[in-house]
Amino acid sequence: MRLPKYIEPRKLAQKNGLFDGEVLAEDIPRVMSALVSCEQMKVKLEFDIDIERRRTMTGTIDGLVHMQCQRCLEPVEVKLHVDVRLAMVWDEEKAKQLPATVEPWIVGEDPEDLHAIIEEEILLSMPVVAYHTEHCVDATTLSVGTLDDEPESRPNPFQVLETLKNTSKKPN
Ligand SMILES: [Zn+2]
Repeated sequence: MRLPKYIEPRKLAQKNGLFDGEVLAEDIPRVMSALVSCEQMKVKLEFDIDIERRRTMTGTIDGLVHMQCQRCLEPVEVKLHVDVRLAMVWDEEKAKQLPATVEPWIVGEDPEDLHAIIEEEILLSMPVVAYHTEHCVDATTLSVGTLDDEPESRPNPFQVLETLKNTSKKPN
């Protein structure tokens, strides 16, 4: 099932609405512009009213996509997973009162663009760059300086110990 573009979130929360389906590439053009291709984008969303009487939309977005590897410039498969946890608020003022763990979603009585919200959630959790996990480019062709994990300027702890032993040496 392709998720509808326009929904009425507050009404859906009232009747515990549920979406289990997918969005197509054309539904999320801004995400697509950052990808080489998109195999699938599965979306599960549940609308509810929580114990704090907040109307919520929670769920997951799972995508199998291809991004451009920033090392070899060939496509690399990336699994996207987004946890959605939004609480509907009427305005900015109410949004500020939410605990930090809950993301505010300013929603009125008018229909909302669900595709745009899904797109926003994906963009927020998408990796900025992607690389193949294996060495896709021969290391010798790269002109990157070697990384030194152990700076040599650090004093050798054994040397320090040696100095202590020497200074505390007592005559027999
Ligand atoms: Zn690569």
